[in-house]
Amino acid sequence: MTHVFDLPKRPAVGIAGSDKTFPIRRIFCIGRNYAAHAREMGKDPNREAPFFFTKFPDTAVPSGGEIPYPSETTNYHYEAELVIAIGKEAAAISKAAALDTVFGYAVGLDMTRRDLQLQARDKGRPWDTGKNFGFSAPIGPIRPVDTGGHVSAGRIHLTVNSVTKQDADIADLIWDCAETIAYISRFERLFPGDLIYTGTPAGVGPVQPGDVIDVNIAGLEPLSVTIGPMEAGFQA
Ligand code: MN
Repeated sequence: MTHVFDLPKRPAVGIAGSDKTFPIRRIFCIGRNYAAHAREMGKDPNREAPFFFTKFPDTAVPSGGEIPYPSETTNYHYEAELVIAIGKEAAAISKAAALDTVFGYAVGLDMTRRDLQLQARDKGRPWDTGKNFGFSAPIGPIRPVDTGGHVSAGRIHLTVNSVTKQDADIADLIWDCAETIAYISRFERLFPGDLIYTGTPAGVGPVQPGDVIDVNIAGLEPLSVTIGPMEAGFQA
């Protein structure tokens, strides 16, 4: 088979302790999965069914580099998140079996044009311009379950220029990893290479060019990105 242009390179994530990579198939993101964050967004944190949105696979970017400040926003926010890396196919899987599908876990950032997300939310429109844009899904190396087990508790901590902005515990997730996998798999068959960003705790806020974001989750590889200037060709 030949193509009219070169096949784009498949985005992939590094794996801690390995020179292999994890090729990304799709990115799912859970919304409002910590009660205190739901409240800060003006929503009821009661345990209603979870909801999810998606990002293009090539919005993922590795730790350690610079990501451009996006166009068309004046309120660009960080959201520190635990990321589940799926390693097995699953459709409508039970909560009891859900963790068997997990390849590993990573630290992620669900970067958000908050102004556009809230405009879309309040008008009942899709969230894509607020959530699904270039460089919006930074992710650290994946720690495989084989070497570190599953993640059900532990500190999740984000700093901007070394100042703490988010500080919570994975145990505070409203929907834990097994429940989240089981829920998404009712709507969409999961495949190896899928990533699930599990939601952010309270303390979200804006960043500016030059800011350095560091995210740590106990036991996982850290994530660090620097906010750069706007990408060439875009306008503020
Ligand atoms: Mn999020």
